[in-house]
Amino acid sequence: MTHLPRRAFITRALNVAGAASLSWPGLALARERAQPLVATRLSESLTLICGAGGNVVAARGPDGLLLVDGGSRERSRELLRLALRETRSRRVHTLINTHWHPEQTGSNEALGRSGARIIAHENTKLWLGAKITTPWDNRTYQPLPAVALPNDTLYTKAQLRWGAEQVEYGYLFQAHTDGDLYVFFRDSNVLVAGGVISSDGWPLIDWWTGGWIVGLVNGLETLLALANDTTRIVPGTGPVMSRDELRAQRDMYAEIASRLQKLLRQGKGPQEVLDAGPAREFRPEWGDQTFFLTMAFKSLWGQLTPDA
Ligand SMILES: [Zn+2]
Repeated sequence: MTHLPRRAFITRALNVAGAASLSWPGLALARERAQPLVATRLSESLTLICGAGGNVVAARGPDGLLLVDGGSRERSRELLRLALRETRSRRVHTLINTHWHPEQTGSNEALGRSGARIIAHENTKLWLGAKITTPWDNRTYQPLPAVALPNDTLYTKAQLRWGAEQVEYGYLFQAHTDGDLYVFFRDSNVLVAGGVISSDGWPLIDWWTGGWIVGLVNGLETLLALANDTTRIVPGTGPVMSRDELRAQRDMYAEIASRLQKLLRQGKGPQEVLDAGPAREFRPEWGDQTFFLTMAFKSLWGQLTPDA
């Protein structure tokens, strides 16, 4: 995604005195709320649905639909209706959560109640069952009811057959959160990346639930190794990407991560990092970097000890 935390952050940043310096480039907020859902056919069996919070991929199979992510709770009903209609399916059989964020898991409760299989990394299940207060916006996320929790969890990787598709899914260790999964539809050559990558703005690095920027770079390495030149990569938000675009993002985040680690070793604080402009030449079209850089820098604190 990007993400309920992002959206929540914007709301808070606009309201809380002193938070203005951390405002996310979120002028699209109002538009996003009213954004219509758009379904795009990716292959004979796969449909991409955009606009429900995060990107959603629906795979048609003999037992119904397999969904990768379920959008936000507010858009869930509309999303599920559209997914079933577009694919002429009768029910959602399986849901894969790429991570715990609310813009991916908003259909968990409805689908859990209808008996769906819900696949996720074990850490995602743990976060979804916990009360989480994110320190950057002091927002609290209540645990989901038991019926909405993943009922089929994994630690490393797994695969399943879904109609015409061999579906491989696996763990991207501590990247955007500490429970990120990718989902690779090898037959259609579509790689769903989840929250590890976005193609329309600076990503949220959720260090509070175990993400960090070096892990994000490693996650992009994993995705690059799975993809080839004709793979279509579905990011958490934004348009479908090519492997070349993914590689360009890997290179950029690797460079930024390296600069941030250097600043950390020099004993710099967050404001000094912003002043140093370690991402200054990158992606001006993505707007203000303050929130991204602050999160990326703080994500190093729990992982690396600065030199004494
Ligand atoms: Zn996310």
